[in-house]
Amino acid sequence: MDPYRLPRTAVPSRYDIRLEPDLTTLTFKGTETVALDVTERIAEVVLNAIELTIESASLENDRGETIRATATLDETTERCRLTLASPAAPGRWRLRLAFRGTLNDKLRGFYRSVYKDPNGVPRTMAATQFEATDARRAFPCWDEPSFKAVFSVTLAIDPGLTAVSNTAIVSETSEAGRKIVRFADSIKMSTYLVAFVVGELEATGTVVVGRTPLRVWCVPGKKPLARFGQDIGAASLAFFEQYYGLPYPGDKLDLLAIPDFAAGAMENLGAITFRETALLVEETAASHAELERVADVVAHENAHMWFGDLVTMSWWNGIWLNEAFATFMEMLAVDAWKPEWQRWVTFGVSRAAALSLDGLHSTRPIEFPVTSPRDADAMFDVLTYEKGASVLRMLEQYLGAEVFRSGVRDYLETHKFANADTGDLWAALGRAAHQPIPAVMDAWIFKPGYPVVSVSRDAGGHLVLAQQRFNYLREPLPPAAAEPEQRWQVPIQLRVHGRSGSLEERVLLAEREARLRLGEGADVVIANAGGHGFYRVRYAPDLLEALLKRLDLLAPIERFNLVNDAWAMAVAGLMPLTGYLELTARFRDERDKNVWSVLTGSFYSLNRVLAPADRPHFAAFVRDRVAPAFAALGWTGRPGEDELTRQLRGDLARALGILGDDAAVQARAAELYAAAKRDPGAVDPNLLPAVIAILAHAGDARRYEEFLDGFRSARTPQDEQRYLYALAAFRDPALLGQTLERAINGEIRTQDAPFVVRAMLMSAYARELAWDFVKRHWDTMDRLYPKHGMRRLAEGVTGLVARALEADVQRFFAEKKPQFGGKVLAQYLEQLHVAVTLQEREASALSAYLSKLG
Ligand SMILES: [Zn+2]
Repeated sequence: MDPYRLPRTAVPSRYDIRLEPDLTTLTFKGTETVALDVTERIAEVVLNAIELTIESASLENDRGETIRATATLDETTERCRLTLASPAAPGRWRLRLAFRGTLNDKLRGFYRSVYKDPNGVPRTMAATQFEATDARRAFPCWDEPSFKAVFSVTLAIDPGLTAVSNTAIVSETSEAGRKIVRFADSIKMSTYLVAFVVGELEATGTVVVGRTPLRVWCVPGKKPLARFGQDIGAASLAFFEQYYGLPYPGDKLDLLAIPDFAAGAMENLGAITFRETALLVEETAASHAELERVADVVAHENAHMWFGDLVTMSWWNGIWLNEAFATFMEMLAVDAWKPEWQRWVTFGVSRAAALSLDGLHSTRPIEFPVTSPRDADAMFDVLTYEKGASVLRMLEQYLGAEVFRSGVRDYLETHKFANADTGDLWAALGRAAHQPIPAVMDAWIFKPGYPVVSVSRDAGGHLVLAQQRFNYLREPLPPAAAEPEQRWQVPIQLRVHGRSGSLEERVLLAEREARLRLGEGADVVIANAGGHGFYRVRYAPDLLEALLKRLDLLAPIERFNLVNDAWAMAVAGLMPLTGYLELTARFRDERDKNVWSVLTGSFYSLNRVLAPADRPHFAAFVRDRVAPAFAALGWTGRPGEDELTRQLRGDLARALGILGDDAAVQARAAELYAAAKRDPGAVDPNLLPAVIAILAHAGDARRYEEFLDGFRSARTPQDEQRYLYALAAFRDPALLGQTLERAINGEIRTQDAPFVVRAMLMSAYARELAWDFVKRHWDTMDRLYPKHGMRRLAEGVTGLVARALEADVQRFFAEKKPQFGGKVLAQYLEQLHVAVTLQEREASALSAYLSKLG
């Protein structure tokens, strides 16, 4: 018997659950009746439960039989075994259970969240987070996605509180001093999508989309921040009903902001939960990046209502498709809502993050066999979300958007209220496209890595395209890791500009190499035209030079990819680092926010690689590259300027003030901050986050106190985040030490603390101090932080770029043996090794190059 899959001898079809949470004693009582189909004569019933006390259990049927059962809980397998006093015959049975549990502080299962009300008084609420396998912490259940059932939830709560669950309320009565809230039956769905939230909650007014009432919920005082989230909630709901060709599967939709929340958001059907920063925002006071984040997350969760909730993966290996698809749909919906945001261009940043991780030997295929649910924990990473979404986008562009959509509709219609696998989606897309999808997709999904496509011209004037797996490190691998040469079916979109105009051509590069005949005078060749391909391009020097001379012919996403691929070649040693630095000089006139994000991103990385003595020269280099574009924009926006340009102004100021250590920029930032203190509307909200970051970088103890106060009294979640991360961005060790203490003394929420410490490990100024602190307090942090907290924190070690630190990191983890799941730890260590290798290979050339500039 598979120790990770429950026996299917008793299959639930319906749960009637009644829970009575007590926010004072932080406990809950529960009863449930589960309708079971028993398929063969059984002596026991096995289901999932953990950290619950089972008080009674019995089986009964309509023939008047009752069988008492004795419950034993196994904490390691998280199973509850009900031994029956006498065997139960096949047929329909009702399992009756009574149980008790605790509202924990680990942000999973049924847990408590503590926040301050508008008067500063601490308050407690209760919320749930069940994916992947934590529903079993709230009620005993068949906690696997393929055991779909109908849920009927009743909550008995303090009369002063409000309760929200997946469906609409059908009745509210009172009983023994409690308010009894009964919710309508859910659709047939998986346990991980059940949710209930209890507390002093406030809701916005209702917006009706099609037939669905939509509201946003938050703790008292924050309702003015709910408008934007409700707008994108309504817009994306309408978009998806149209795209999927199926009505929204629930009877209402509530979006709830929870003050303590481990993930970003959770797609519980009809009751989506969010961390506050991902839902609540003041539109007029937020930067473009902050608004985009809310829009993305809301659209993403809404996309899941169909893809994930209505049709659900059969087992946890399907997590990738669930998440990749929702990420892809999130882009489509936000792009349709705000085309001026150019969401698919900004998606280049996500694709770049996936290309970066997937360029490691320790990467993994998008989909891999998953035996235990724990194996799937490692799936919640950029390979699932960002690589997954990138290859779906590549496929959509290759098949055509209409064909792709009809395949998706067919898939949802065929598998609604049930479960499906990757193969089912490929089958549906194949029917729509009249071609087999696995042939094109298998290597992208089931093999690790991706190709770099080299583009050159041979003596006969042919264009030569050749593919090879891209890796940052080329040192020989141990024999077990060596793989036969990998091939992909690479859909290549070419654009050639010549004397007689431009010409597009599509090639499916399936072999190692292909040769194409180009017309006369083909001067400029762009591979990965449109930028959708999940591969890198390495141009021969003459082709690269021709491109750099005609950057005006490239779309922003094509310029983005050009810079991003060149940077990757430099890191991998396929191009001299100084060659890359020279290339960046060609972008002084660049005005696109996303292209600048890849340029400045490479500068932030380099800042961690530099020898400290080179830092002043490097600052001069950054000023040389960034200052002209910033000067052209100026400090103040022009009327009618678009949001992306205003965001760019903030991004460039930040790079100049921090990496460029530009004294004039720092002084101007201080003036602007003072002005914003007097009048919050005085500074563009796109500039304010940068101003705060710059002032932290240049700041002293007085500034630290000021920002600490800003963190404590923040009015919006975004404001709180800006000040919180600013506390990690000072340079004075004493101040940094204070921030580290706050990460373990309860001042910084455990949902945020791992990310703050990670930021400090990634800071060239805080990293050694932070690493020392992490080593000393590892066990404390591990105990305090939610699940996956240490995994997120530990990613910061990739910033400890020095041979000695690397050795120390390896020693520490060899002793601690942290369990991050999958290959996560190996990936962190390899990323660090890539950076140290770059540092050692390029140190002297870099030093010479920079000092020549200065
Ligand atoms: Zn998701």
